[in-house]
Amino acid sequence: MAVTDHVDLNGFMEGVKKRNPHQPEFVQAVQEVAEDIFDFIQDKEEYHAQQILRRIAEPDRVVSFRVCWEDDNGNIRVQRGWRVQNNNAIGPYKGGIRFHPSVNESVLKFLAFEQTFKNALTGLPMGGGKGGANFNPKGKSVREIMRFCQSFMTELYRHIGPDVDVPAGDIGVGGREIGFMFGQYKRITNHWNGVLTGKGLEWGGSLIRTEATGYGAVYFLENMLATKGESVAGKTAVISGSGNVATHAAEKIVQLGGKVLTLSDSGGFIHDPDGITQEKIDWVKAHKTHRRGRIEEYVEAFPGATFHPGKTPWGVPCDVALPCATQNELLGEDAKTLIANGCKAVSEGANMPTDLDGVHAFKAAKILYAPGKASNAGGVAVSGLEMSQNSERRSWKEEELQQMLKDIMKGIHDACIRYGDQGGGYIDYVKGANIAGFKKVADAMLAFGVV
Ligand code: NDP
Repeated sequence: MAVTDHVDLNGFMEGVKKRNPHQPEFVQAVQEVAEDIFDFIQDKEEYHAQQILRRIAEPDRVVSFRVCWEDDNGNIRVQRGWRVQNNNAIGPYKGGIRFHPSVNESVLKFLAFEQTFKNALTGLPMGGGKGGANFNPKGKSVREIMRFCQSFMTELYRHIGPDVDVPAGDIGVGGREIGFMFGQYKRITNHWNGVLTGKGLEWGGSLIRTEATGYGAVYFLENMLATKGESVAGKTAVISGSGNVATHAAEKIVQLGGKVLTLSDSGGFIHDPDGITQEKIDWVKAHKTHRRGRIEEYVEAFPGATFHPGKTPWGVPCDVALPCATQNELLGEDAKTLIANGCKAVSEGANMPTDLDGVHAFKAAKILYAPGKASNAGGVAVSGLEMSQNSERRSWKEEELQQMLKDIMKGIHDACIRYGDQGGGYIDYVKGANIAGFKKVADAMLAFGVV
């Protein structure tokens, strides 16, 4: 077998930057993984010779398409949609659909790349993909959202299928949007199958899918704290976001006896020193349903709280932090502030919420820090269980699913320890997650030869 010239990390990243100009999020995600993988494969010739990392960092395909729709005033609107199919070595492509004005090819390529490792970590047979459109659902009527979803699916249906690619929700796409897209898929193909996850319970959805990402991030946190003989009970938590992941992470923190101090949205954050109780979380869920309300209105409902416009919550002293809004929302300076204020653990609910400076700061301080690809994998894990239930034409009970979710999060935590234990009581969860996810996908790719 021919052995290729090895490039070092810098040489590899130069190539990634050159091949992906103007795609900073994608380059950032690849760099975070490559930093650990180069170390790991140093003495593993087959991964070098077969160019495995280079191949994982090149999506199998990127489909880009026009999405036309008519707004309520009869204007024709044109958006851009994408599906990035990153890697299907261990199972059909799987990953959410995001509707947000910030969506572009770089963001979706980074998400599909991350998803490849995350899905491998769950232990379920799922490859990595991601999709979306630069469509802003905020302020749109239900009919407009329906027309947009239908138009989006009119192209997407050609590229997906229960054994091909199984999308789900993400920012801006919840149960309602999945319903509109599933309806259109069914209308076009005449097939009822598990082509999407996050479906309603009446039509093939799984119990606890909605809660799974936020709950899973807290189960992961609980596993990390247990390595230090501690638990969530009695801890103060700072959480960003107020959507699906943030509200369910808050709910699980409260259930386990912790105190949640903050939530946020793109307008700013609220700080409630009395603690955001279950009753208050229910208010936020109802208020933010379908992205209608703003978090700043919380302070009118609960006057003990304050609203901080245009700010992120990382300056509020806490024991644990859960960034659950979006990518690059926690920067190097924020990480240093959290550490200085005594934060012991960070569990990411969002995808890549911490920038590279922040990641390096958490690692240098050796605090418990879980990257999203490990800690937010609970959502896709239950999506995988939804696929199994659809294939078997059955529904599992809530207790069974809760237990499976807990077991999967523990399994991911154990995998991180296996490859991330640095000795002296420090576990590098980023390294552990990157290597464990990479190894599974890479070994499958080795079996397939050069394809
Ligand atoms: P939602 O649409 O339900 O909520 C998103 C939240 O993040 C909202 O509070 C939103 O505020 C806030 N937000 C979005 N963009 C920004 C921004 N640019 N600046 C500040 N705040 C912002 O999405 P989810 O809760 O589903 O997703 C949140 C994160 O979790 C994303 O990174 C997603 O990829 C990740 N994730 C989600 C999974 C899931 O199962 N849903 C699975 C795994 C990861 P506003 O209302 O103002 O827009």
